[in-house]
Amino acid sequence: MGKLFETVSEKFKSYVMPTYAPSIMFVRGKDARLWDDDGNEYLDFASGIAVCSLGHCNDRVTAAIQEQCAKLVHVSNLYMNEVMPLLAEKLVKNSIAGGKVFFCNSGAEANEGMIKLARKYGNRTGRNHIISMDNSFHGRTLATLAATGRAKYRKGFEEEMPGFTQVPFNDFEALKAAVTPKTCGIMLEMLQGEGGVIPADKEYLQKVRALCDEKDILLLCDEVQCGMGRLGTRFAYQKFGVEPDIISMAKAIANGFPMGAVLAGPKCADVFEVGNHASTFGGTPLACAAALAVQDAFDQDQVLENCEKEGAFLREELSRLAGNYSFVKGVRGMGLMIGIVLDRPAGGLAGLLLKDKMVALTAGETVLRLVPPLTITRKDSLLAVEKISKALAEFAKTEGIA
Ligand SMILES: *Cc1c(COP(=O)(O)O)cnc(C)c1O
Repeated sequence: MGKLFETVSEKFKSYVMPTYAPSIMFVRGKDARLWDDDGNEYLDFASGIAVCSLGHCNDRVTAAIQEQCAKLVHVSNLYMNEVMPLLAEKLVKNSIAGGKVFFCNSGAEANEGMIKLARKYGNRTGRNHIISMDNSFHGRTLATLAATGRAKYRKGFEEEMPGFTQVPFNDFEALKAAVTPKTCGIMLEMLQGEGGVIPADKEYLQKVRALCDEKDILLLCDEVQCGMGRLGTRFAYQKFGVEPDIISMAKAIANGFPMGAVLAGPKCADVFEVGNHASTFGGTPLACAAALAVQDAFDQDQVLENCEKEGAFLREELSRLAGNYSFVKGVRGMGLMIGIVLDRPAGGLAGLLLKDKMVALTAGETVLRLVPPLTITRKDSLLAVEKISKALAEFAKTEGIA
């Protein structure tokens, strides 16, 4: 812990609401590397929380931000914006034909927009209830909390927003039984992130899609974490071959510059009318320039190919390691969203990695979550495997298991 950390933490304790408890401070980043205030170098397999997917301070994104911020940072949505429609076109042309986009600033705000859009669509026929999944995570605002399938996050914030119910994930019969004449949307993450890196079953999604079509229910996909190339395709749904009606995105959309977006397919692309929904900063030129640079990287830098290649390599190497330890139940995930599933809390393992200068995350208590940059090199993948191998051996010792 450096001097700078000590000075800053004092102020943090005095002046910042204690919603987080950071124990380390990073002051600089480049690609898959971070440096703390003592000059220590870390291998970053967290990317923020799946945010800096092109690595820290990606050259394309940095140049785009520098150029745009010298030209025009912000203009109100009351005026035309020269960058935003280009980004919308790029997103739609790579996803749902006939789609349209609304821009905002975060994942929760994107999900709020998605929920409002589904309600407006459904209310025309008297329907405004949304079914979401146990174990899901959709954000911390009141509506997204009501959609989040973890009651503990809602505790203390009563009363709950009405109109939401949860059912077990990947259980089609339970979902079907929960549908009522009031249901307007089914909301899910195709690969649950915070819940523990849990992918949806393909057949399950196909059945959900058919159910939605039959009952005119909208399929709402929260791609805030699993989208934007993380699974090896531009959008997560493309990995499963099931097209949603609305997609929310955020996290990696502008490689760390705050931004969110709602992309609706033709069924509900024109449901919001002038004055229905808004966001002061949504689609601001600076954010859009950063996001366009991310799209350029997808177009030109073989980012998705690298994600597939390194993801497959890491999952194979980690599965091999996992076989050596009885407390490791397995390795799961897709692309570069990888979970090492333990039979006990994974926090200690993440702590050992951090001590060895590697940043990783946990998910759903017992899962070590790895979300490195999609641009990770083979050399860094190998270094990560080496560090994880050491940490697993150390963890076995500290937990008293052979
Ligand atoms: C992070 C996350 C959110 C919330 O995003 P914020 O930008 O923190 O509001 C919503 N859904 C999923 C799946 C997420 O991973």
